[in-house]
Amino acid sequence: MSALTSERYAGIAWTGEGYEVEVLDGEGRRVVEPSGWSGAQAAELIAWLRDFEGGRTPAVVLDSTNGLLDGPMTAAGLDVYRADPWLLPPRPGFGSVTAGELAEKARTAPGGLARVTAEGGTLTGRAEEYFDGVRRGEPIVAALTAAGRCFEHGRRDVPRVALTFDDGPDPVHTRQVLDILDRYGARATFFCVGHHVAALPDLVRRIAAAGHEVGNHSWSHPYLPDLTPEQLREQLDRTAEVVAKVTGEEAPTRFRPPYGALSPEVLAALEGYPTTLTMWDVDTRDWARPGPERIAATVLESAGPGSVVLMHEGAGDRAQTVQALPAIVEGLLERGLELVTVEELTAPPGTDGADGTDGPRPPAR
Ligand SMILES: [Zn+2]
Repeated sequence: MSALTSERYAGIAWTGEGYEVEVLDGEGRRVVEPSGWSGAQAAELIAWLRDFEGGRTPAVVLDSTNGLLDGPMTAAGLDVYRADPWLLPPRPGFGSVTAGELAEKARTAPGGLARVTAEGGTLTGRAEEYFDGVRRGEPIVAALTAAGRCFEHGRRDVPRVALTFDDGPDPVHTRQVLDILDRYGARATFFCVGHHVAALPDLVRRIAAAGHEVGNHSWSHPYLPDLTPEQLREQLDRTAEVVAKVTGEEAPTRFRPPYGALSPEVLAALEGYPTTLTMWDVDTRDWARPGPERIAATVLESAGPGSVVLMHEGAGDRAQTVQALPAIVEGLLERGLELVTVEELTAPPGTDGADGTDGPRPPAR
């Protein structure tokens, strides 16, 4: 595999505490002692890898249950590869395979790895499988939608829009998003990943204190079909738990699946699980960094009463999203649309949805 030319392979594992890193050379020898990094040290970890041995930057190997690092790493110009489960030994109940196993796989079987690019996204190379899973899941999603347990948008006759921000909190972009929302008195929903919530609790407290909603977006942003049902529920439970602990509020029951990857197998694992699946009807595709003008135009061309708008404020370079946000907020307000949380958007008619109750909702249309 000609792509991995640096002959330095950095396997990066995620755990409940943060990241573990092992760097091997072409002969499988340890180049430095293994190191541990907290979840809040992603930027430091990236700088350390970039400057490794005076610029001999290792190729980075993540597994498919880690959607936290490829965004910031590809944005920083690192070579990032994904190892899929069929290449790897079984994972523990919570956490990825070890850093050593990931680095060793890159060294011995590099042809099986997928090179992840900023443009292609985390699932580069698995798009067909992804779309097939979503397609097969559609009848189940339709049934859940009819039962009020899944929705893509709110009522079309109420002039309200829910902006949603995924993958945070983020040490840089979350503050900027909050400042902009504050300026306009707008509320939004943040689908946070547990790994980042544990690392940056103050930011999550600030989100909640400002009247925004915090939803569950899993712990490590995995490709859900790669998890066992137990691993999937562990991701949800641990995230709900840390959000409740940090905010002092009730654990969130609203879940947004990473990548929207709802295959029948994933849906079966969630059966009977106390969660409301929250999708979207306006996708800005801001993660692909199409330019702030394009991001704003997508929202203003597509959003209307009842819309749920998908954006991202974490796990990557989200500067364009931040730049686009004032135009998005102003454009929607000018049309007389109120910017509310998902909770408020889905509240039964005649309520303000802000009383914290979680009663029956009308099915979304
Ligand atoms: Zn996400």
